[in-house]
Amino acid sequence: MSVSQQVFLSDAMRRLNLTRDIFASRIGVKRRELDAWLLSEESRHYRPMPDVVHRFVTEIMENEPLLKKYAEAAQTGPIRDRIAINGKHQLLSVDQFTRESVEDLFRIADLMQPIARRQKVSRVLEGAVLGNLFFEASTRTRVSFGAAFCRLGGSVCDTTGFTFSSMAKGESIYDTSRVLSGYVDALVIRHPDEGSVAEFARATNIPVVNGGDGPGEHPSQALLDLYTILTEFSRLGKLLDGSHIALVGDLKYGRTVHSLIKLLALYRGLKFTLVSPPGLEMPSAIIDQAAKHGHVIEQTNSLQKGLSGADVIYTTRVQKERFQQEELQGYVPQFQVNKSIVDAFCRDDVIIMHPLPRDSREGAHDLSVDLNEDPRLAIFRQTDNGIPVRMAIFAVLMGVESLVQHSLRDVTWFPPTHVGPDDTLLPGIEY
Ligand code: ASP
Repeated sequence: MSVSQQVFLSDAMRRLNLTRDIFASRIGVKRRELDAWLLSEESRHYRPMPDVVHRFVTEIMENEPLLKKYAEAAQTGPIRDRIAINGKHQLLSVDQFTRESVEDLFRIADLMQPIARRQKVSRVLEGAVLGNLFFEASTRTRVSFGAAFCRLGGSVCDTTGFTFSSMAKGESIYDTSRVLSGYVDALVIRHPDEGSVAEFARATNIPVVNGGDGPGEHPSQALLDLYTILTEFSRLGKLLDGSHIALVGDLKYGRTVHSLIKLLALYRGLKFTLVSPPGLEMPSAIIDQAAKHGHVIEQTNSLQKGLSGADVIYTTRVQKERFQQEELQGYVPQFQVNKSIVDAFCRDDVIIMHPLPRDSREGAHDLSVDLNEDPRLAIFRQTDNGIPVRMAIFAVLMGVESLVQHSLRDVTWFPPTHVGPDDTLLPGIEY
């Protein structure tokens, strides 16, 4: 071999566009074995790779069609390999997705709908345990992740808040993550610091899902939001490509909109209107990332201007808990998305969304309850979609998605036909 084994293998993985995990499984060796081959010869853990592997890899590299086939296989293999981050089956950011992989994930979410609607049960994750670690307030995300795991046959261990965790005794993220990896098979983590979930993820090889890292990202929320938009558009006979999305409220600290705009930017020719009170505008790095895909992005402090002609209004809560020096200005009653403004400036087929919770306290001016009986309000259809989408995330990360279809059995109990007494019956939406 003229070049070192380390250079030879790194070059092969780069040219084949494969992560270490995928490369190891392609050539039929354990990841640990490959890691040892990739060390420098001076390392005491270095191992020479067998001659047969060298010959096999050389053959692929020297054969153009084979090289292309292998490189393409990385785009068409299991979703968990295509969205892997640092060679691990973890979900930390929506940046891990392409339009193809996100739509593949949604096909799995569709497959989960009969389970989410309580018509069928499945036990594909029987025996698996989820650790749900929430160091910040949560109702929906924590319970829906837990319910999604249970509905696939797994069990859940929950811990909430710093006070009752060993982090209150000064334990590091690394130690907590490593310890829990010995107890559970997957982790969902919410933490107030941006980047903290990635730190947990680096300290373990088990699947980790970012359940919200401070003002950073909330990938599972954005996935269920996009799934909701696509489902609603399909009912309305609309296409997402070329549509107008208004994002409203605290766009500075709202992590759901940070993830959502990046995911929506994978589509074509969108118009975004970003409507926020002064001082709570979306960070420019996120706008620039979305703008690179050629979308029209307009920023305004005027609700009327931002909502006019929108196909989707996505409203958010003001994240006061994340404020540093900001004074909340301009968040006046005229900033509230309510029935009169929607009637005056939007079409009949607009859909109104919110990641929830909405702040219903006096003077909060969050999304008004006077839209509750308006079929354009999609917030509860949106929360319902949290279950199939999160089930799909687990099935993909744990590699069981192909087992779901054949695992389905009828439920034995009698669930109500509509879970909410005020649910509007809409053609094209099954409850
Ligand atoms: N539930 C969402 C989140 O955790 C939205 C919010 O809290 O306003 O980011």
